[in-house]
Amino acid sequence: MRLPTNSIRWRLQAWYSFLLLVAIAGFCLVTLRLAWNDQAKRLDRVIMEKERMLIETVLRMERHMNVDSFRSKSRESQMEIPPPITTYTLEKLRTHELELPEEVVKNFSGKDEGHYFFILKEPDGGVLFASENAPKSISFPDSKAGTDMDVRRYRDNFRECFKGGPRGLQSCLGKEVTPELQEMRAFTISLSLAAGTFWIIGLWGGWWIAGRAIQPIKTISETADNIARGSLKERIELKGTDSELDQLGQVLNHSFDELEVAMERQKQFTADASHELRTPLTVILSESRRMLKRSRNSEEYQKALQACEESGLRMKSLVQGLLLLARQERKGTADDHELSDLHTMMKDSIREHQPLLEEKMLKLNSELETDVKAVVDPDAMKILFNNLIGNAISHHPGNGKIEVSLQTLDNQVSVEVADDGIGIAKEHLEKIFERFYRIDQSRSGDYEHSGLGLALVKLIAENHGGTCSVTSRVGEGSRFTVTIPFRSS
Ligand code: ADP
Repeated sequence: MRLPTNSIRWRLQAWYSFLLLVAIAGFCLVTLRLAWNDQAKRLDRVIMEKERMLIETVLRMERHMNVDSFRSKSRESQMEIPPPITTYTLEKLRTHELELPEEVVKNFSGKDEGHYFFILKEPDGGVLFASENAPKSISFPDSKAGTDMDVRRYRDNFRECFKGGPRGLQSCLGKEVTPELQEMRAFTISLSLAAGTFWIIGLWGGWWIAGRAIQPIKTISETADNIARGSLKERIELKGTDSELDQLGQVLNHSFDELEVAMERQKQFTADASHELRTPLTVILSESRRMLKRSRNSEEYQKALQACEESGLRMKSLVQGLLLLARQERKGTADDHELSDLHTMMKDSIREHQPLLEEKMLKLNSELETDVKAVVDPDAMKILFNNLIGNAISHHPGNGKIEVSLQTLDNQVSVEVADDGIGIAKEHLEKIFERFYRIDQSRSGDYEHSGLGLALVKLIAENHGGTCSVTSRVGEGSRFTVTIPFRSS
């Protein structure tokens, strides 16, 4: 069963959704943090302003009091009087003798939204001085930092700033911040909603983009499917953008071209093979029918049987050639390759052709490098040698010479068979390696020549990773060269 999670589009979408979610969440968290920090800074500035105002008021009051004598006493006794609040003022605060002006008290009274309060604590934790609206139970942070203590925090609906003062004193100035907190909560909700909307739009966009991105893949698979069903002419439409998919389309189109050519070749081959087999079959059938019509004399029977035999031999040679081709095509790989002595194989082939050479009065000169051992398919190489030497003899008018050479050159084994026979015209040179191609069609009656020999030679050379070529001049002769990469193991 095909699950949606198997589809590339779904997978792209899943990854995209996840990454988009992470990015949006990250963005929102940073934004919220910055917004909260900014608001906290603004609140702290306002609270500090209030603190400054309170201290200034106390100092102003201190100046109005007669503290000169106290100051001089303090100097005499080396008493430390760190600004801004003197020990004298502290004493006054402890004994509740110092009363803040009305307008200052107003600033630190009531429990309305946004009210301020302050608390000044003794080092032992007792309250030294506090506004009337200060919360009764408020826990001060750990005061180990001493005078350096500077803590700002949110507690319930309050923003509180704690400071460490001289001689272990601690102060807290706070503000009720319900409206500011509501504002921030509203901002958080709006941002979350906007982020959610953006994510959903992003998902839709991602789905659309993923769909567009894999559309060419769909087209490619549809085209490949149609081709597999037999529409060999169909090709993938290329956008010409040179994108990865366009490049894939190009590669596939090229493969489809090759597939079409191979299929055409196969069809042609089947048609040619049927055609080649039909001629001798027709001869056999028509001759036997003719003989069966009425009784004949022995001479006629002999002639008819001779014709049938020749046709049979021709068919045998054809079927043999076809079988060899089929086997070579099936092999294609190095399955049957083994270390073989090419020198001995070539010598054997020359020896086998000796009677034919003598019959045609041909002189064969060989230049064979000794000890040429290479990893090849030995059966195939025998066919290759026999076909090249056989062709040089059978397509030679006689009375001439053939040169055979075997050598290793630049890590290649080179086999050359040259003759001074009839030669091959330029227009045939390319075609002689095609199956069933014979230059002299009048010799098609010759049962040994099926037109498959050079096709086999080429296929064997290619199966060994080599090449096969020919140079020839009409009336001067031909030279066939096969080169195969040398493999010794
Ligand atoms: P065939 O069975 O006819 O020899 P091949 O495929 O071996 O088929 O050769 C194809 C054709 O190439 C031959 O019919 C022949 O006309 C030509 N040919 C091959 N070898 C030679 C040669 N050495 N000299 C002249 N023509 C040749």
